Amino acid sequence: MTADYRIAILGAGFAGLCMGLRLKAQGETSFVILEKAHEVGGAWRENTYPGCGCDIPSHLYSYSFEPNPDWPEVYSAQPDILAYIKSVAEKHGLYSHLRFNSEVTGASWDEAAGSWRISTADGGSVTAEAFVTAWGQLNRPKLPPIEGRDDFAGPSFHSARWDSSVDLAGKRVAVVGNGASAIQFVPEVAKLAGQLTLFQRSPNWIVPRMSRPYTPEEKARFRAEPAAMQAVRDEIFEMAEARLVAKRAGTLPVEEVPIPLAHLHAQVADPDLRAKLTPDYEVGCKRVLISNDFYPALTRPNVELVVEAIACMTPEGVVDATGRLHEADVVIYATGFETKSFVGDTAITGLSGASLGAAWAQGPEAYLGITVAGFPNLFLLYGPNTNLGHNSIIYMIEAQVEYVLQALAQGVPVAVKAEAMVAYNARLQDDLAVTPWAGNCTSWYKTPEGKILNNWPGTARAYAEAVARFDAGAYEVVKLPEPAE
Ligand code: NAP
Repeated sequence: MTADYRIAILGAGFAGLCMGLRLKAQGETSFVILEKAHEVGGAWRENTYPGCGCDIPSHLYSYSFEPNPDWPEVYSAQPDILAYIKSVAEKHGLYSHLRFNSEVTGASWDEAAGSWRISTADGGSVTAEAFVTAWGQLNRPKLPPIEGRDDFAGPSFHSARWDSSVDLAGKRVAVVGNGASAIQFVPEVAKLAGQLTLFQRSPNWIVPRMSRPYTPEEKARFRAEPAAMQAVRDEIFEMAEARLVAKRAGTLPVEEVPIPLAHLHAQVADPDLRAKLTPDYEVGCKRVLISNDFYPALTRPNVELVVEAIACMTPEGVVDATGRLHEADVVIYATGFETKSFVGDTAITGLSGASLGAAWAQGPEAYLGITVAGFPNLFLLYGPNTNLGHNSIIYMIEAQVEYVLQALAQGVPVAVKAEAMVAYNARLQDDLAVTPWAGNCTSWYKTPEGKILNNWPGTARAYAEAVARFDAGAYEVVKLPEPAE
């Protein structure tokens, strides 16, 4: 081997670490994980806002090969998830493979060497026979293009860049956006702010959060009987899958609309507020949110929900479309992420110097969300069309990692055939066209034109089946130049 490593991995979130863990389990030692930050954890390191947690139950939102009997409750909070990620990385000795403060800026396939040359922001580079990107879909905060945004005189920050040095106690806080992140921190901020003004562009369907702490007896049982813990995981998985199967049939179970509507009616008595909070699009078009304290927070006397569009911002606050100024001391943007890049700004060039950016000019596409024609031994984790609205991404990531391991086991550089990738994506878009995400709403799953780039159309199990076996017939072996005499 002439490259520095057999495998270079970009990113130390759940996906990048999963790749490292599974390589290690196979006895592979020649790999490096390049991470821009100073610690592992990805989105769970970056999101530290009050109330941050996961809306997938923890016994499923964790590695199948590293179950945790000590999850404190059904849905865990961010500090517990981050602690889990760190502990797994430590337990398996991954830190010696991690190179922190190493933001990957570019990667190019060196045809003569048959390996990737990967550059980092500090001017360094590594070479590797395979390059696995685990960039994530939700790590680049998106600030809204509001006129005068920079004129606001007070502190402002994005939910994923929470500025804990800003004391919100007694302050007038304006929050822009009301998605999965906002509904978690709004109830917390409302408790301490003098006034909280929430700017909602469109309401969400919200269902109750059925969480509870696990008892010491349950945790002891999970420790003593791994099969009992596995049974909990399996049950959560099957319940999630059943919800999607029902939606895919185009017959949303009648009980699903009553659940969020009943939740809204139970928690919000004021008919005007209810009307503002009632979506006009199909359940599931955007991510269905779970919360028990978001609606009650909106009924507090110090909270106002504004549904008029934002016209502009001034040094004093936010002006809505009616011309009313909502004075604020602090503005928090819960406006989501740039979700359509999959590799950030990383400049990736493959065979004949072709750029991934150019290949993706019409929108990112990959075969099974993992490989791209013209890019040998480049493997994407949590790539295009591998997100879910109903089940655990960790499950999807594990399935992808096993596929990549099989690809690596071929022992030669492989690139998916263009025709295989094109045919796969044509089928995929046909399947996506009949999902709830194609409905009449905006979401981070699709482009403004309506092409769904982020989500997988089927069950999580169907995806795992699709990637269960490395299908060599869809690939070509990339010939390496003969070594010089
Ligand atoms: P998001 O779901 O994309 O929500 C962004 C919010 O900002 C929406 O309410 C959106 O309104 C609003 N918005 C965007 N641009 C705006 C503008 N220019 N003017 C006014 N409002 C604007 O982002 P997020 O809440 O950060 O969540 C993103 C994803 O992260 C979630 O779907 C989920 O997958 C993940 N997440 C998960 C958890 C968890 O519990 N596992 C927690 C947090 C986040 P519209 O709806 O009208 O577009």
